[in-house]
Amino acid sequence: MAAATFDVVDPATEEVVASVDDATPADARAAVDRAAAAFPGWSATPPRERAEVLRRAYELLVARADDVAATIVGENGKPVAEAKGEVTYAAEFFRWFSEEAVRMAGSVVDAPGGGGKLLTLQQPVGVSLLITPWNFPAAMLTRKIGPALAAGCTVVAKPAELTPLTAILIGDVLRAAGAPDGVVEIVATTDAAGVVEAILDDARVRKLSFTGSTEVGRLLLAQAAKRIVNCSMELGGNAPFLVFADADLDAAVEGAMVAKMRNGGEACTAANRFYVERPVAEEFGRRLAEKMKALRMGPGLDDGVQLGPLVNTDAVEKVDELVRGAVDAGAEAVVGGRRPSDEKYSAGFYYEPTVLLDVQPGSKILEEEIFGPVAPVVTFDEEDEAVRLANATEYGLVSYVYTGDLARGLRVSEGLDSGMVGLNRGLVSDPAAPFGGTKQSGIGREGGHDGMLDYLESKYIAVQW
Ligand code: NAD
Repeated sequence: MAAATFDVVDPATEEVVASVDDATPADARAAVDRAAAAFPGWSATPPRERAEVLRRAYELLVARADDVAATIVGENGKPVAEAKGEVTYAAEFFRWFSEEAVRMAGSVVDAPGGGGKLLTLQQPVGVSLLITPWNFPAAMLTRKIGPALAAGCTVVAKPAELTPLTAILIGDVLRAAGAPDGVVEIVATTDAAGVVEAILDDARVRKLSFTGSTEVGRLLLAQAAKRIVNCSMELGGNAPFLVFADADLDAAVEGAMVAKMRNGGEACTAANRFYVERPVAEEFGRRLAEKMKALRMGPGLDDGVQLGPLVNTDAVEKVDELVRGAVDAGAEAVVGGRRPSDEKYSAGFYYEPTVLLDVQPGSKILEEEIFGPVAPVVTFDEEDEAVRLANATEYGLVSYVYTGDLARGLRVSEGLDSGMVGLNRGLVSDPAAPFGGTKQSGIGREGGHDGMLDYLESKYIAVQW
């Protein structure tokens, strides 16, 4: 019997771009069989050889950047320049972890009480389930596959059903780079719950690394609790963006555009709330509005497009509801605030770039992830007040601070309850840095040196010699 398939839709045209095999729980169990069979061989492969597979994957991904970027645009909708940026960023995780693969240090120390040595080894945790979202379909996957393979784990990866094509291409790249059969299994499915449950129930699966919403993360943590599966969670965000009156305002507006508009606002790191000190609030709002208004919106492959469609109609409805709620409570939409009415946007999931001023405290738009091109601006008077407002959220992924006073910048950065801070920078993501959140934004870190530790377990051997 032919496998059932599901359609992948282009968010700019609402047309079907491809059909993909729809994995069932039985397919998922077969993928775990292959990953489990490959684990002994892969974990025993010398780190240098594992590193070389990742290094070749880096080179292949860079060589195929145009194809992969076009695939990302076709299923996610982002402008092609951003898709190319994502491919570069995604490939860098393979390069970085190819370099980390040969630096898995254990240790030997004298037992403090005497009488022996304490020997510690680092061993791969085992077959790993990787679950990724649709907003960065390449980078969210390589950020997990890179460290997992470097550490000696084999993986079963389940991409988001909206963007399976990029994941399938990355699987091809890894095989072409020399990853043996079973080391990387991609299972695309519309039955996320059934497939993930089947995989998590399998005693050979020892690790779950999830990137997605806090809501689904919470569900998966409960499911993983049944077998005490080792979990890493990269969840939602609600990033505050603080602008002090002593900031370089040109830099702050530039940074705001990057922090807000990367991926059209569909990023966990997206600036979600702008807190601006009163003396510069009006000017900041005006300048931000001018920049937002000037953005060219359209299909991601068209020349000069800076803002693509959102991913689907639900996303547009959610953004619109948050904006309407804020406006009804007294906010003013100085730019945008609606779906575009122009005929050329009749197909596709578009929302106008929007700046909201005088947003009232308690508005839902300040509490929930907007995940769209909308910037709510709130005014503050005191440094303590800004930090308190910034921290008044269940999320703690990233915060942004703009100030001309470095001592203040560092003091405020220390006080912000988030895993990452952009200080006079609107972009924090870097494969060499530990990415992750506090509070309900997650558990664990990806990238940097820490990223590989999530796929390793320490084994302690008490030795007498
Ligand atoms: P989502 O939580 O809806 O889905 C993420 C993944 O989980 C998808 O692969 C989906 O198929 C799967 N999934 C959904 N329900 C499931 C279930 N019941 N059982 C098993 N799997 C299930 O998130 P999304 O809409 O794809 O992505 C957007 C979210 O991801 C935002 O909240 C964003 O902040 C977050 N995100 C976080 C990071 C980070 O690094 N912290 C990065 C990117 C995105």
